[in-house]
Amino acid sequence: MLKDFVLGSSIACLVFLGLAGYEILPLLLFGGMIISFYFLIGKKGMFKNQFKEYTCAVEVGFDEIGGQKTAKQELKEALDFIIHSDDTKELGIRPLKGVLLTGPPGTGKTLLAKAAANYSDAIFLTASGSEFVEMYAGVGAQRVRKLFQSAKGTAKSQKKDRAIVFIDEIEVMGGKRGSHSSHLEYDQTLNQLLVEMDGLKTNEEVRVLLIAATNRGDMLDEALLRPGRFDRQVQVSLPSKEGRKEILSIHARNKPLGVDVDFDKIARDTFGFSGAHLESVINEAAIMAFRNKKKVISQIHLMEAVDKVMLGEKLDRKPTQEELRRVAVHETGHAIISELLNSGSVSHLTITPRGNALGYMRQSPKDDQYLFTRNQLEQQIQVCLAGAQAEILIFHNSSTGAGNDYQQAVKLTHQIIASGLSRLGVVDRDYLSRNKQHRILSEIIEQQTVYVESALRAHQQTLVRIFEKLIKDEYVSGDDLRQLINKKVS
Ligand code: ATP
Repeated sequence: MLKDFVLGSSIACLVFLGLAGYEILPLLLFGGMIISFYFLIGKKGMFKNQFKEYTCAVEVGFDEIGGQKTAKQELKEALDFIIHSDDTKELGIRPLKGVLLTGPPGTGKTLLAKAAANYSDAIFLTASGSEFVEMYAGVGAQRVRKLFQSAKGTAKSQKKDRAIVFIDEIEVMGGKRGSHSSHLEYDQTLNQLLVEMDGLKTNEEVRVLLIAATNRGDMLDEALLRPGRFDRQVQVSLPSKEGRKEILSIHARNKPLGVDVDFDKIARDTFGFSGAHLESVINEAAIMAFRNKKKVISQIHLMEAVDKVMLGEKLDRKPTQEELRRVAVHETGHAIISELLNSGSVSHLTITPRGNALGYMRQSPKDDQYLFTRNQLEQQIQVCLAGAQAEILIFHNSSTGAGNDYQQAVKLTHQIIASGLSRLGVVDRDYLSRNKQHRILSEIIEQQTVYVESALRAHQQTLVRIFEKLIKDEYVSGDDLRQLINKKVS
């Protein structure tokens, strides 16, 4: 209204001055400049309060977050401090001011913060670290002040006595001081956050808890991490096998599932997947069922969805017959060695191009594994080398398709050396000459190549049988593969 009135009267004045014979061009130019400046600044949101506000309409409960048992437990404990603040006051317990959630992307940090607000019936305000970064000194600090004021104000207006402020990507504004090119602005913003955290008290009308999330805990300024600021640091890790199973079940709650669906198998196949990946697996599986005009999601849809999330969409690229044959031989080589070393370890193999791969063999380990012996690392190297060795056995040469396998084998070899598992024993690699490292690396790779070569030679007929089936059907399941391997034995 006011804007329209000011605009209308300005135009009327200009017309009047023009008619009265005054020179109005400079006035027009000046007015134009003011309007452009207003729109530019307005668009950038410099003076806007952009924080998203949710009251407890954030309907995410802790039971909708799979796995993350420890993280949920720690967070609930921290929340009990703001929920039962009277009891904690009696014991003289200092209130918690901040909880820092650290972990890889997509593991559920934002979900945990939302569930925290729901659990504690608190006002929930969310902002991202990047919203506080401006080239103008003082703007970031002003926004931090506003965020906390907003939290308290909103809580009061909704007659609540608790608020949770969630800052995602806190490393953007809370990075080590002095490490940015525009020091002053970053330092002022961080200082303001420290001031706000120090000012949080239990006896205030509205008790505020700051929850922050980051993928890069190592980048944060020491001052933020000291006791009295982020008192709790909660690790939100990639889910374990049980966690993955829980997450899959949560996201499948509202979807029709076929009787053959086995989440245990899918959880085994998805080591290293985050909650976000798993959500995508269920969604992609539903899309595939829809495309195939099916009423329910089956195990085959889920298996294909895992491949899609892991490697990317199927490609239209059509390799030549000769290339297909080579890819089939290569993947069969990997699969046979993997099965010979660990029976039941292959999920399936295919020569359908997907992402950057012309074909692939996927393993399905029985359990998640975090520690490896030298023998286990060597076995992994053997599986990597088997693709190229199979090509050499059948075609008497290998191809560029083995490039990634070799890189992986070299990485594993470095792991053997760095963990003190090579014949050199415990070494400081900085004092090892590059030549020596390379010699040890070649030694290990050569030893494993000899094993792989003789194992494949001994199973050459099986190799041929399997790759011919793979060329014919494009896909061989782990069970079919095992049957074909055992045929030779019997
Ligand atoms: P980033 O670090 O990239 O911000 P984040 O850790 O905050 O990621 P969220 O935004 O919480 O991850 O999760 C993204 C999506 O992944 C969620 O909306 C949810 O669908 C799914 N998800 C992640 N973790 C879980 C989990 N533990 N249980 C159920 N769903 C999950």
